[in-house]
Amino acid sequence: CGIIGAVGCGDATLEVILEGLATLEYRGYDSAGVALGGASLDVEKQSGELDVLRDSISAGGSVPDGSIGLGHTRWSTHGPPTDANAHPHTDESGDVAVVHNGIIENYQTLRDGLQDDGVSFASETDTEVVPHLIARGLADGLAPEAAFRDAVDRIEGSYAIAAVIAGTERVFAARHDSPLVLGIGEGATYLGSDVPAFLEHTRDVVYLDDDEFAVLSLDGWRVTDAAGEVVKKEVTTVNWSA
Ligand code: GLU
Repeated sequence: CGIIGAVGCGDATLEVILEGLATLEYRGYDSAGVALGGASLDVEKQSGELDVLRDSISAGGSVPDGSIGLGHTRWSTHGPPTDANAHPHTDESGDVAVVHNGIIENYQTLRDGLQDDGVSFASETDTEVVPHLIARGLADGLAPEAAFRDAVDRIEGSYAIAAVIAGTERVFAARHDSPLVLGIGEGATYLGSDVPAFLEHTRDVVYLDDDEFAVLSLDGWRVTDAAGEVVKKEVTTVNWSA
């Protein structure tokens, strides 16, 4: 339902992600979660309101840490609104975390294939095939961006997808029939399913088109097309207020 991502916010990352999710609450949701990354990933997710997530983060003792962040508010389509079905979803090692808006139409076929290969699933969602596909690509020797692209190339349906991979300091994103927009800040880059997610931090936005991919890193951002060619995107300044 709602996606927020941030790269380059340092110690403020968790707050930027949680506040971004709060601005997306108006869309409606049944669960929420965050993934923070650096050398390893920390994932916290809960069914219920954002306050439940905030409470479980402060009660957990170990606050998610990292300068790369993703957040998601879920509106269930596949699997009931349980903690396990909340996003982000991870691979078995916990080194890949994925958030997704939309529906993956061919998830059952992909899930059956992965399960035949011995992969165990932790949720009933259509989304969970994606982190497992990325992990398989990495295990096969693909570089992180190539593994993300390979996974997205295998799914059919509607999606705005973002992933973080431990040790990469980047956010990987792609869309098809579901909106996704970049926010270009000073020394920080944001990702949102909707501009309000990061409007407090920047008004300079780049709208992703269908079948484009984006990589957000501490050095900046890059958009490529389905063939992997760099796309020169226009940065638009929005003048409406939050
Ligand atoms: N189909 C996914 C799920 O049920 C994503 C739903 C959404 O867009 O929030 O988890």
